[in-house]
Amino acid sequence: MFTEIKNIQSSDENVMKFVFEKDNAVAEAVLYKYPTYEDRTVICCSTQSGCPVGCRFCGAGDYFVRSLKAEEIVFQVDHCLQSQNIDASKIQKFQIMVMSMGEPLLNFKELEKAFEILYSKYPQAKLLISSIGPQINYEPVIQMAQRIPTVGLQFSVHESTDESRDKLIPFKGKLKLTTISQIGEAFLILTGRKPFFNYCAHEHNSSQQDADNIAALFNPDVFEATISVVCERDESIAAANVRQRELASSFMQKLAAHGFSTRMFDPAGQDDIGGGCGQLWFVQNWMQNNQHLAKKSVGFGMEVIHAPKEAELV
Ligand code: SF4
Repeated sequence: MFTEIKNIQSSDENVMKFVFEKDNAVAEAVLYKYPTYEDRTVICCSTQSGCPVGCRFCGAGDYFVRSLKAEEIVFQVDHCLQSQNIDASKIQKFQIMVMSMGEPLLNFKELEKAFEILYSKYPQAKLLISSIGPQINYEPVIQMAQRIPTVGLQFSVHESTDESRDKLIPFKGKLKLTTISQIGEAFLILTGRKPFFNYCAHEHNSSQQDADNIAALFNPDVFEATISVVCERDESIAAANVRQRELASSFMQKLAAHGFSTRMFDPAGQDDIGGGCGQLWFVQNWMQNNQHLAKKSVGFGMEVIHAPKEAELV
């Protein structure tokens, strides 16, 4: 298991970040309370060390080390709770999200094992998969969600056209937006639970035309919308947060006018620890310092070299 664990407290006391290290991998997890752990606890944990997808806004996407084992995924959740003496049975709203480092569906076999364990340990916790939508077979994913009633699915969409999305998420083995929409419909039909799409609003993707494009792609009777405030690797982004919130709020209203149920995701702790996905300075330094383990991602054919064997590409 991990040999070194760092606990990094934000100046925001509601957020805590953990870095897990061993000789051949690093992982990160974030623990949030809203406003107390008993009221609502959210844990975001990693499914891979680094990430082969290489989203341009994400510091974790520059390098990929390896996929994490199920026990390494579960360990992050257990440690977040145990380190703060949180009694999981007393949490009223509990969410475990695989949305820190890594693309969870490129590590599906280990994710599935981890979810089985997490469901047995924390049956009241929602288990949310946040994915860019890699080209894998989604039948096992939906079957898992049928078997485990707490599993939810969210697609990171972030742009309203495939062309713009290709620039932001250069990973070639990803689904087109229309296919993501179809998989979401299948997920709803087969599980009875609505999928989500996540959209990080910025200056160049939050016009009325973008909202119209999204509405043409995604059925508001099927998908719920999460609008994220910050998706930047730059640690100085805190200064821009007010503007980011305005953009997110305005785009949320445009989607609501199209009939979407919307919510805003504003990752706290952005100010000094890098609360968002892959933005922790420590992990980025670890990758720089362990380049014998970490291969460079982003447009270098990583999707071919590192497409995990267990992910059945369609
Ligand atoms: S945002 Fe997620 S999928 Fe994209 S590079 Fe970062 S960890 Fe990977």
